[in-house]
Amino acid sequence: MANGSQYADVIIDISIDKLDRPFTYRIPERLSGIICVGSRVRIPFGGGNSEKKGYVTALKDNADLEDSKIKDILGLVDGSISAEERSFEIAAYIKDTYGGTFSQALKAVIPVKAKVKPVEHKTLIRRMRTDEIRALADEAFRLKRTAKERLLRALIEDERIPVSFVTRQLNVSGQTVNSIIKSGVASLESDTEYRKPTVAEIKNSKSLSLNEEQEKVVSKICADMDAGTCGTYLVHGVTGSGKTEVYLRLAEKSVLLGKQVIFLIPEIALTYQTLARFYSKFGDRVSVLNSSMSSGEKFDQCERAKAGDIDIIIGPRSALFTPFNNIGLIIIDEEHEPSYKSENTPKYHAREVAGKICELSGAALVLGSATPSLESYFRAEKGEIGLFELKERATGRALPRTEIIDLRAELAGGNRSMFSRRLKALMDEAIASGDQIMLFLNRRGFSGQLSCRECGEVVKCPHCDVPMSVHNGNKLICHYCGETAQKPVVCPSCGSKYLAAIKAGTEAVEERIGKMYPGVKTLRMDKDTTSAKGSYDKILSSFAEGEAQILIGTQMIVKGHDFPGVTLVGILAADLSLGVPDYRASERTFQLLTQACGRAGRGEKPGYSIIQTYQPGHYAILSSAAQDYKRFYEEEMAYRETAGYPPAVHMLAVQLFGTDEKKTSNLALELGNVIKSNGTNRILGPAPANIGKVQDYYRFVIYIKNADTEKLADIRKICEEFLTSKIMNQMYVQFDLDPLNLI
Ligand code: ADP
Ligand code: ZN
Ligand code: ZN
Repeated sequence: MANGSQYADVIIDISIDKLDRPFTYRIPERLSGIICVGSRVRIPFGGGNSEKKGYVTALKDNADLEDSKIKDILGLVDGSISAEERSFEIAAYIKDTYGGTFSQALKAVIPVKAKVKPVEHKTLIRRMRTDEIRALADEAFRLKRTAKERLLRALIEDERIPVSFVTRQLNVSGQTVNSIIKSGVASLESDTEYRKPTVAEIKNSKSLSLNEEQEKVVSKICADMDAGTCGTYLVHGVTGSGKTEVYLRLAEKSVLLGKQVIFLIPEIALTYQTLARFYSKFGDRVSVLNSSMSSGEKFDQCERAKAGDIDIIIGPRSALFTPFNNIGLIIIDEEHEPSYKSENTPKYHAREVAGKICELSGAALVLGSATPSLESYFRAEKGEIGLFELKERATGRALPRTEIIDLRAELAGGNRSMFSRRLKALMDEAIASGDQIMLFLNRRGFSGQLSCRECGEVVKCPHCDVPMSVHNGNKLICHYCGETAQKPVVCPSCGSKYLAAIKAGTEAVEERIGKMYPGVKTLRMDKDTTSAKGSYDKILSSFAEGEAQILIGTQMIVKGHDFPGVTLVGILAADLSLGVPDYRASERTFQLLTQACGRAGRGEKPGYSIIQTYQPGHYAILSSAAQDYKRFYEEEMAYRETAGYPPAVHMLAVQLFGTDEKKTSNLALELGNVIKSNGTNRILGPAPANIGKVQDYYRFVIYIKNADTEKLADIRKICEEFLTSKIMNQMYVQFDLDPLNLI
């Protein structure tokens, strides 16, 4: 007959397990040769033949069904782009490994579905002599117009600056840009093209010669790339050991071989410093994805990747699915970061999916961290992946000296303040000599909970099993569901009027510092101070520029910028993150403390770190103070093996949610019995989750342990089958393989 195939298998966009298989449709003559694998199509579906959308997963010449039963594809979805064939394989892998429906898996791996029109690209062009601009910048400085000054100084450096760079990275308002154009310093040029989130060109970045440790990593992996025998590699390098330099060399190699590179970093570490190093080496051939980009900008990056316009993409988890044709290398920096695991179904882990993509593409996978995940180190120990250790700081500077302070002894000595005498003395010294200090509370803290001094009641959200927080003095807000309420005047439980807001940890610290060191400038960084777009970068860059002497914050301050002026890091309450009811509490604590300590002494002066704790003998604290990963790994792994937690075994969490507590708990019990009757699994639960209710949904969990992930996938399928007929309205289930948190 006509050219092209006659039938197509289509996966329909419905999140119902029963319908989670391809359906066969006929390709009408007018679409013949146009529809291909990956096309997004409109199809009639169900009794009423209502119109649905779906993806073509296969083309075929014969159908197994009677011709009269097969319906026609209605047409292509307007403005849609076709999914790459590789995406289907990845989606199938994700569905098989982590559960959920095929269409949910496809949504995860196909980043942008709709075409978006290209936009105008605006650039500021310098129109004045640089000495004239310099005079204006000096004046702006005198008038304390810092944003204007920043822009003027940038224009002295660069003749052309993208407006998007000015407003985002330089954080200059549109108003200021306009005033600069009006005064004739610069003019605007627009052209329509792909949106390129470039940073201004970086000049004269010198190429470093690798040290011996770095050289070893680069030469081995490059040799494997040449030989086509790449695998997975773990680069365990202390903070500041020059991992980024290693990544740059490997990326260069891959590009030389004509292959593309995906560089994943946690969103929070997507800083100017890192980007600048890649841009200075690869210029326009590198691009970025991040969550603050519009879907149009994201779409354009995918188009540029497909068209071969870029070689390297830098971005968070989702950048993994950039549609490159010929991937040669995937790098995952800070590979231990929990943000690499998807929070939504399918709850895939970028590290494992990257492994699959590399396997399909014959690419190298490089994992880097100062504090590797137990998962990766375990695999390295077993010899499944290559291990490289970078033990020295590349700049030759010493790692900071770390001291552990026993807070029990402080109390016994009559010191009730949040600062130990030793930390206080070091702070005095640092302030006197003009050095910078970072103070770290390794947990958000229960910011502004309202509690009753008489009965001890904490005011909780009516929909969630969590305390609400005070905002702006008179409002309560739930951080889980967004519920707001007026702050009550009397205790809802006993009527007492002695209701007090507990200060957020970081806020209380800031207040205390203000009293201890009047006149010393401080900055605070936590969830409350970084909710506005761009505020995160703003705080970090103003600290980097020395606008404040003390930075107080949660784990957010651990990542990102290098602050050469910091000579002292104080960890105020190391126990906060140890007390979390989770098998990963020690690992998280070790990672946070190690990274936090590594912040000190990056510049000329040597650094000090102080860890204050009530458990000075805990191995997570001792080994982070000694920057001794191996010691931590061995103790922690022994615990995981004895208690039976990942990576010693695999663990599947089945989470059942429902608005009716009784019905949900009964179903959880039934489900537990079904699982038990299906073999020799180790089961925990069913039990109410740690946080028993969120947004009016009660939460029950069952944990199933097995050495074999395939067994757990079978169990998951049994659960899915059992639940299809049992699950009622306002109930749903989620599966989480090797969960990062116990809910
Ligand atoms: P990491 O990513 O391991 O924390 P970086 O790659 O950021 O470390 O490097 C830390 C510092 O050491 C940077 O300032 C970098 O310029 C410098 N550096 C890296 N490699 C070398 C080298 N071979 N020689 C000298 N300095 C280096
Ligand atoms: Zn709530
Ligand atoms: Zn009360």
